[in-house]
Amino acid sequence: MSKRPKRGVPEGLWLRCLGCNNAIFRKEAEKLQNVCPQCDYHFYVSARDRLTQLLDDGTFEEWDESLRPSDPLEFKDKKRYAEKLKDEQQRTSLLDAALTGHGMIRARRVAIGVTDSAFFMGSMGSVVGERLTRLAERATEQRLPLIIVSASGGGARMHEGILSLMQMAKVSAALARYDAANGLFISVLTNPTMGGVAASFASLGDVVIAEPKALIGFAGPRTIKATIKIELPKGFQTSEFLLEHGYIDRIVHRAKLKSEIARLIDYCGK
Ligand SMILES: [Zn+2]
Repeated sequence: MSKRPKRGVPEGLWLRCLGCNNAIFRKEAEKLQNVCPQCDYHFYVSARDRLTQLLDDGTFEEWDESLRPSDPLEFKDKKRYAEKLKDEQQRTSLLDAALTGHGMIRARRVAIGVTDSAFFMGSMGSVVGERLTRLAERATEQRLPLIIVSASGGGARMHEGILSLMQMAKVSAALARYDAANGLFISVLTNPTMGGVAASFASLGDVVIAEPKALIGFAGPRTIKATIKIELPKGFQTSEFLLEHGYIDRIVHRAKLKSEIARLIDYCGK
């Protein structure tokens, strides 16, 4: 759908699979929604492509599409945050790291939000937090099932300081009100879901689904190892490990994700 180069799936006829290291015919992987035909490795999917994969054709209507990030702290490291934002926007054709709106999943109307790890690692700045909060509030008002697909390696966006950090509490509070109104929130964790995103809305689903072999956690393994100074268990912070330890409810292959969400909505009577 989008014309920009896909991260994790370099341009060209062939691509090297990050799972099995085989050369994969790109078209073949794309036909499988960016999954490796040989080892089932789930490649990166942009937020727009994810919406195309999950929603019935032409049913998506975006909410709050004009919300755009600003630079209230005038943050600067090697480069100004304001300039970095422009670069990311141009590169990804997104205004910020989340898209929200409503659409149909096999003829069931849902409120849906998706984060995109290509935009500032999918980190949660003020706009991501505000879009997701409004999404949860509209889902509450309109009594819609709520789906949020997380692809966020960055957690809170440090360039916005405390304004980013407070989004975790803000989105979580909106989700608590949605829950009190008996809403059904299905959280889908994809590779990667880390930091403040994992520590807030992504973990708050009534049902938490993960794609196979996704990296899910709070701090990265190196940081944890350096802090607690013990060997971490094998496969730590993968979907499979987290399923075994009860952190997520099930692992669903990308090809079955749409049907599985539709089934869950019916099962929960929403
Ligand atoms: Zn592979």
